[in-house]
Amino acid sequence: MNIKKIFKTAQAKHLPIFQFNFSDLSQLKGIINGAKKFKKPFILGTSEGESNFLGLNFAVAIKKEVEKELGFPVILNLDHGKSFDHLKKAIDAGYEMVHFDGSSLPIRENIKITKKVASYAKKRGVLVEGELGFLRGTSEIHREMAKIKVKDMTLPREAQLFVKETGVDALAPVFGNIHGIYKKMPSLDLKRLSMIKSRVGKWVFLVLHGGSGIPSSQIKGAVKKGIVKINLNTEIRLAWRKVLEKSLKDNPQEVAPYKLAPQVIKAIEKVIVKKMKLFYKI
Ligand SMILES: [Zn+2]
Repeated sequence: MNIKKIFKTAQAKHLPIFQFNFSDLSQLKGIINGAKKFKKPFILGTSEGESNFLGLNFAVAIKKEVEKELGFPVILNLDHGKSFDHLKKAIDAGYEMVHFDGSSLPIRENIKITKKVASYAKKRGVLVEGELGFLRGTSEIHREMAKIKVKDMTLPREAQLFVKETGVDALAPVFGNIHGIYKKMPSLDLKRLSMIKSRVGKWVFLVLHGGSGIPSSQIKGAVKKGIVKINLNTEIRLAWRKVLEKSLKDNPQEVAPYKLAPQVIKAIEKVIVKKMKLFYKI
């Protein structure tokens, strides 16, 4: 499978590739049931925490089975890797894409490690995503308003320097996006996104992190301005928890997980379908 080609086609057609994170079998089944309706390549994401819970080799085996079952490309990405060592292990285990998140580091340090990841990955045909700017928040529900400072956002000229020095295939910029769902969501700075896109060039794919909770019109606007990959985690986690609680409450005597799971799977399937429908037909 040529993953780069999948990204290039997605960019040319303004049809984004979705990344859905999982760490649990009900989540995975919900993702599969939703995504299989569209028959379009998608990404299974695991953060460091999610990948440690699943086990890297186990995650790779799962992805292979999912792909076999669906009959179209499914890409496995290590999301928000915080160290070279973990990403190296993921690449060695068979991940096809890795994201190094050095956004909390000074830019020089971020460039240094991202470059090291990129050079290790490229020799093995693995795609690398870098991150620049300070992406706030965590993948959960927040009671407060989202606060994003202008100084957290990615500077277009720094983005240009970053991609040139590191050789990444993809970049996650900060332009008003945030992890998690907030009482009031910020608006995306699409002008900044356009500027970043023109600086990084045609062949660096831009990634929208924090895809949960952003209004559809803004997601569509971001794709028009150059976003090629959209990450979704919070909305999947939220559906999992909410419906699992209900399922447990509705069936107080039930102890078989597979009998409690169908409602959860259905709810996650709905989340996936709703997002993919913004761009794809069933
Ligand atoms: Zn993220």
